[in-house]
Parts: sequence; structure tokens; C-alpha cells
Amino acid sequence: MALCAASISHNNTSRILSSSKSNTFYQKKISASPHFSLLSLTPPLPSLSRSGFGSHWRRREPCSLHGHVSCSVKAVLLDESKEKLLLPKGDTWSVHKFGGTCVGSSERIQNVAQVIVQDSSEGKLVVVSAMSKVTDMMYDLINKAQARDDSYVSAVDAVFEKHKLTAMDLLDGDDLASFLSRLHHDINNLKAMLRAIYIAGHATESFSDFIVGHGELWSAQMLSYVVRKNGLDCEWMDTREVLIVNPSGSNQVDPDFAESEKRLEEWFSRHPSKTIVATGFIASTQQNIPTTLKRDGSDFSAAIMGSLLRARQVTIWTDVDGVYSADPRKVSEAVILRTLSYQEAWEMSYFGANVLHPRTIMPVMRYDIPIMIRNVFNLSAPGTMICRPAENEDGQKLESSVRGFATIDNVALVNVEGTGMAGVPGTASAIFGAVKDVGANVIVISQASSEHSVCFAVPEKEVAAVAEALKSRFSEALNAGRLSQVAIIPNCSILAAVGQKMASTYGVSATLFNALAKANINVRAIAQGCSEYNVTVVIKREDCIRALRAVHSRFYLSKTTIAMGIIGPGLIGATLLDQLRDQAAVLKEDFNIDLRVMGITGSRTMLLNDVGIDLSRWKELVKDKGEVADLEKFRQHVHENHFFPNTVLVDCTADSNVASCYHDWLRRGIHVITPNKKANSGPLDQYLKLRALQRQSYTHYFYEATVGAGLPIISTLRGLLETGDKIQRIEGIFSGTLSYIFNNFKGMRAFSNVVEEAKQAGYTEPDPRDDLSGTDVARKVIILARESGLKLDLSDIPVQNLVPEPLRACASAEEFMQQLPQFDNEMARARQEAEDAGDVLRYVGVVDAVSREGRVELRRYKKDHPFAQLSGSDNIIAFTTTRYKEQPLIVRGPGAGAQVTAGGIFSDILRLASYLGAPS
Ligand code: ADP
Ligand code: ASP
Ligand code: MG
Repeated sequence: MALCAASISHNNTSRILSSSKSNTFYQKKISASPHFSLLSLTPPLPSLSRSGFGSHWRRREPCSLHGHVSCSVKAVLLDESKEKLLLPKGDTWSVHKFGGTCVGSSERIQNVAQVIVQDSSEGKLVVVSAMSKVTDMMYDLINKAQARDDSYVSAVDAVFEKHKLTAMDLLDGDDLASFLSRLHHDINNLKAMLRAIYIAGHATESFSDFIVGHGELWSAQMLSYVVRKNGLDCEWMDTREVLIVNPSGSNQVDPDFAESEKRLEEWFSRHPSKTIVATGFIASTQQNIPTTLKRDGSDFSAAIMGSLLRARQVTIWTDVDGVYSADPRKVSEAVILRTLSYQEAWEMSYFGANVLHPRTIMPVMRYDIPIMIRNVFNLSAPGTMICRPAENEDGQKLESSVRGFATIDNVALVNVEGTGMAGVPGTASAIFGAVKDVGANVIVISQASSEHSVCFAVPEKEVAAVAEALKSRFSEALNAGRLSQVAIIPNCSILAAVGQKMASTYGVSATLFNALAKANINVRAIAQGCSEYNVTVVIKREDCIRALRAVHSRFYLSKTTIAMGIIGPGLIGATLLDQLRDQAAVLKEDFNIDLRVMGITGSRTMLLNDVGIDLSRWKELVKDKGEVADLEKFRQHVHENHFFPNTVLVDCTADSNVASCYHDWLRRGIHVITPNKKANSGPLDQYLKLRALQRQSYTHYFYEATVGAGLPIISTLRGLLETGDKIQRIEGIFSGTLSYIFNNFKGMRAFSNVVEEAKQAGYTEPDPRDDLSGTDVARKVIILARESGLKLDLSDIPVQNLVPEPLRACASAEEFMQQLPQFDNEMARARQEAEDAGDVLRYVGVVDAVSREGRVELRRYKKDHPFAQLSGSDNIIAFTTTRYKEQPLIVRGPGAGAQVTAGGIFSDILRLASYLGAPS
């Protein structure tokens, strides 16, 4: 073991020894253990290098190739047989681990060296990963060679080039020459090994582990040179000399702490440095065969080192500010967790938060060593501290119950089902025995208490073998019908909610499942650890990100964050946007409702944004950043391309094409809110389909503003019906325009004159015939009739058209207005007749629930009737019901205009928020 290390650093050793005399950090003791055992190793690999893996395993190689290496080793061995430096353990040490991205380029390696220099700890052990992507490149070399793909040669050259260029940027003089010569050497060895793999068409595990670990060897050496250049004495450690592990099956290894500690002490006695740069990821077996801690294992290396040194702290440096409440690549609103308990961190990493390797926790937990997760690119961020949880005075945990969420993709569910399983001891053991035999890793297990089925998740790539093993293990039970099936459900993901004692806090699971239900996500299986640190659900893979966002926002954002898409920014839509702009902050602050307008689309242009459009300048943004409108793309953007679980599309158009999309939107879990009457007054079968869908799902469809603008008409009607009242009749003045016209058609005024006045005042459609025809009122009648349970179509409603027959064909509104006075007499006569009887004329819509019909007509009302008392453009609606029989229930107020209509839509949006759980 001493061979290589000595050869690389014996010069430094003497320097450090002399420089450290003056402090107590190093103590000397007489060595009791000469290193002869290493000299008797059998070389497992035909290595040639002195700096790479091979150098340590070539004890029986003739020393002709590396005569000087052997010589220097002898010298050190002689030295060490006399005295040995005692490794000081404890708080003086801080351990750092720098991930691949931290050392991804020469600049970054420089930066890391600075961080190391700036740490004022007395002893520093720095574990380093391979430069980013290098481990992948190394695995790729093996795959290529095994597949006899000649391009492995150029791929090795690329690895060489990458490290050569990095070293040339960082080093110079002797340092550069010596690093490059080692690199060269290693690469030549690798080429030889890969050639052997190429010929054999196969690589053994130890061959592979030997090859892939080179990334760490190179990065550690380069970094140690740079740290030294920055003025700090430093040694590099090939951790295969120190970390001893035992394979434990399922592609895992278990550290042998006692042996590793012994070897660390020995290593230190030969390299008594205050700053050590150690390779992450790699280790050796008891037999000194190179191995690795498996993918992403450098975190584990650092934790083991931390525990061997009883360090004060282990800092894992990476490219994010700490552990987030969910993978920040998937949930942009994830928040940094300032502290996590060891168990929480373990659960998060086990369930896929790859910011930390799951096995990192155990070694440090033994000695209560905190782990800090820090961002090397943002030193100002304090990071996440993983430690024993703090308790407040009452002994209660300070943190909230759910801390974070993580997901594992590419899993499959296996469901073993059958009545013959109940009460039969050993079934579960037989199932999992069979699974173990094929080496598959069971991620979660769920068993119904009836014992009717056992269901568990395994990595997708292992499921075929598992199914095969189970079918053969249980073939008898399957044939006999005691087991009905071994079913595989592919394409699943696991979503875990993690938090100290979360499962024992009331309502947490309910909230979790509620959030999933509201996002229309079907839960395939559920598991809750008895440790109560996690609740795990298995869902369809395609739902995974949506589920993650849904649950995350439910616990972390406002309960009711709603992504909105506004369709039709005309008069009403624009007014709604203004109202939203003015009210958004209050809603968020006081009611925990977070409304985000993710898109605005007109018929020609649309504006999309990923986090929410700035409503104070949306018009400007539409002009500057608008793109060609495309309703499908718009829908996708608002619903899928964001991090919020609830989506609502608000249709402020009067377009039947837009209305025809509601069904599809609702089916996709998108809530719909609209003042557009087209869907509810369109073809009956489509309406019924829409309502049926609305009732089956948790998706909401609100349309209060279709009748009477902001007046509570639909909601009043619903309230009556839902509380068991029976509607007999709904009668009302539903058109603000016609209300205005007949409220002012009095005295001697000509009808055409009042219409003209209404038009001038902006109360009519551009062509007043659209109001006078009564179709709009008929649509409202249909909406109310259908809401009351009548199955009527527009064609079933007789409508009195106030546009004189001859004028219906007029080509323009102007022509119509010009000719209208010719018909004033007719209207004047009707008014006179009413007047003579003490009545007034009102244009009303009627739903007669008893005779199951509706109509729209000009009617006469006594002057003291509420309908005769109206002013301006007010609407009035009278509900006659079983409860409100003598005196109808009357709703009255302004029933038209952009402000009140937008207000009606807005209150539907808030109703949606409260249905989704906003506080009242
Ligand atoms: P390193 O190379 O430094 O070991 P990794 O890629 O292994 O880095 O881990 C860091 C990455 O983990 C982050 O860039 C982030 O994208 C991802 N990640 C996944 N889940 C989380 C989480 N909950 N918190 C922080 N990062 C996470
Ligand atoms: N370089 C190794 C890997 O990529 C180990 C690590 O970086 O943690 O798997
Ligand atoms: Mg990592």
C-alpha cells in the first residue's frame, strides 16, 4: 500500500513533517505494523501505471519498469518501521466533498481550490468526484469495448484530451509534466485493458470498477496540485488504499469501518498532511481488489471519511443551494430546506433526491456529524444542514410535518393476487425470496390487510425476471387457483412525501391524497413506513411530474395556486385582467390564493409566460412578445408547461368554437369558467355530456356570468335546488339592453328614439337587432331551464322578435336604424293599450317548470309589480318555488357591463379557489 503513495509524495512527506513540528496536530508513535502484507498481494489486473489503479497491485512485477518507484518505497518502509505518526481524530477535521459539476472545468477546479484554502479548519479532507460526465464516459468506454465497437479508441482519446486540456490550463512546469506523464500512462493502460475487453467481448465487474474509477484519480491529483499552488501543503489520497468494503449483493458494498480506520491511520502516518485531497467513489475489497461505492458514491466516500476521522462536519458541495423541498428541475417553486433530520435526508435520497447518496447518512449519524449541503457556485447561500433534529422546549419537533417530496421513475408494480394467500404463513416470504433470488431490488411494498394481494414495486428493468421467478415459484398455486395472478403494471413512478413524524400528524395523508385527486391523478398503490417518515404512492409515470407539483404546491405554496389562461382579452377579458391585477396581492396575502395568469390569447395573438404574466403591462407584453394564437398550444402551455397543479381556462369570448373545447378541457382536469353562453345553450346532448363529466370529476365548470352578469342568479338557483326546493317558475328581465329600452319607453317617446339613445349610450350590440331579436334572452332562458332540470333546446323556446319583419333583412345596422321609425306606431299602440289598463311593457324570459317550457316575449305588468319598478339597465329575476310561493325570491341589480360581468367571472374564480381548499 505504501508503494504508490510514497512514490508520488515522499518529497512532500518530508516537507510536511518538518512544517508540522511546531503544532500539536500531529503526534508520533512507534510503528507497530510494517506494511509487508501489501507486498504479498496477488495482482488482480495487468496494470502498468504507478499512479493509476495498477501501481498498487503490481507487487510481483519485476521492478525494471519502475525501478525508481520500488526504491522510494523501500526507503519509506525503512523510515516507517521506526516510527509512525498518530492520526489525530475529532473536531479539528472538516471533510468536504466536491461533486462532478464542482470540478467540471479548469476554472471550477480553481474555484474549488479557493474554497479549500479559505476553510480555516486545522485539518481538511477533501473528497472529490470525477469531472462531470467523466464517469459516464468511462462506462461508455467499457460498453463500447464489450460491444466490439472500435470507436472506444477515439472515446479514450477524448477522455485523455479532456484531462490534458484541463491540466494544461491549471498547471505548469514540473507539476504539469508529472501529471501528464501519469495521465498518459493511465490512458495507455486503459487502452490495453479495453483492448482485452474488446477481444473477450466481456468485462468483469472488477475490470469495470477499475476502469471507471480513473476519473476520480485524475481529478484528485489535479486538484491537489492546484491546492498546493495556492499555497497549502496538501497530499492526495488514493482511497483504494484506505477504504475497504465488502460486496453486499444487489450492487452494493458495505464499508469495513474497522479495517478502513486502521488503513487510514497507516496512510496518515506516511502522509501526515493537514490537507488531503482524496478520491471519491473508489475503494478496495478485503482482497485489495479495486472496486467502487457504485454510482454517485462519492457522497458516501465523504461520509465514511467523516466518520473515520470523527470530523466536525462533512460539507457536500454541489451545484444547488441545498436540499430543496422537491427536485428543483421538476418543481421550479421548490424551496431550500435549511435543516433536515438524518432520517428525512435519508428518505429523500432513497426516494430519488439525487442531491445526496442515500448511504451517506449512516456513517455520519453514528457520530452525530452534521452534513452541510452547499452550492459551490453560490457561497452566500447558507445551504442545508442535515443533523439530529432540534427539539423545542416542549420536546416537540420544530419543523412542519412534510418536508419534501421525491420521485423515482422507471418502476413497475408487481401484484400477486389470490384468495389462497390469506392466512397462509410464509407467502410473503416465498414471494420476496423469489424476488431476492433474481437480485431485484424491492422499492416499496404494500399489502392489503385481507392478505388478498401483495403488491410491490421494483425497477422496471428487473420486472421481467421477477415475474418469471414468481410464476415459476408459484406455478402450482396458480394452476390450482389459489393464486389468481401475478400481474405486472409497467410504466409507474414512485412519489414519496417525507417528513419527521408526518404520518402521525392529523390530516397530512388526507391533504396529500386530496391534492392528488384534485390533479386527477390515480393512485395505484400506497405504502406508509411504520417509521412514519414517509408516505409513498405509486402512480402512472406520465402523471409523475404533475403529481409532484400538485402535492408540492399543496404543502409548500398557497394551497390554491391556480394557473389561469384568459381567452378573449376584449372588453370583459381586459376588465377581468385589470381586476385580477388590482386584487392579486390581497388574495395572496389574506386568503392564501395565488392566481397566476400563464397565458392570454385573442383570436390572432397570444402571450405565454412560465411563471405568470405581469398584469400591470400585459397589453404591452402582448404587443412585444405575442405569438400567433393557437388554442391547443395555449391549452398545453397553461396546463402542462408549468409547476402549478390547478389550471383554469377562462373563456371571455362569445365563440361557440371555444365553447366546444370545454369537454376536452374538463376531461383533462382543467377547470373552466366563462360568461360565454354558447356551451350551455348549445345542442342539448353536448350540454348534457358536459354536465355529466363535470359531475363525475373533481374538475369544476362555473358560468355564473352567463346570466345577469355578476348577479348571483345561477348560484341562487343552485342553492334552491340543492337544498330541496322545487322550482315552479323563473321569470325575469335578463337583458340589460331591453331593460333600459322599456324602462325608458314611456310618455310620448318614440320606440326608435329610445333604441337610438340606448345605442348611443353603448348599451346595445353594434347592431341593436342582436338585442331586439331576443335570441340572447332565449339563451339565458335555456341556461336557467336546463339548470332547473328541463331538457330544452333553443328551438323549443318561442321568442317574440322585436325586430319588425321587414327590417330583419336590412344589410346594415345604420339602414335598420333609419327605417325603424316607420314602425314606431305599432309599439306606441301596444304601450297605449298597456297604459290604458294600468300596465307597463316589459320584455321577459320565462321558464315554466311546471309545464316544462320556456318562452321569451313582451309582457304587461301592473305598475306596482317589481318588474315595473326598474331603472337603467337593471336585470331582475323572480324565482317562484315551493318555498317562495306567495312572494317570489327576487334578485335585482345591474346585469350588464364589463365591470359587473368581469366581477361575476372573478367571483367564480374565487369560488373555484375555495373549492380547491382556500380559507374562507
Ligand atoms: P454532484 O455531481 O454534485 O454529486 P448531483 O447531480 O449528484 O451532483 O446532485 C445534485 C443535483 O441533484 C442537483 O443539481 C439537482 O438537480 C438534483 N436534485 C434532485 N432532487 C433534489 C432536491 N430535492 N434538492 C436539491 N437537488 C436535487
Ligand atoms: N463519479 C461517480 C459517478 O458519477 C461518483 C460520484 O460522482 O459521486 O457516479
Ligand atoms: Mg451526487
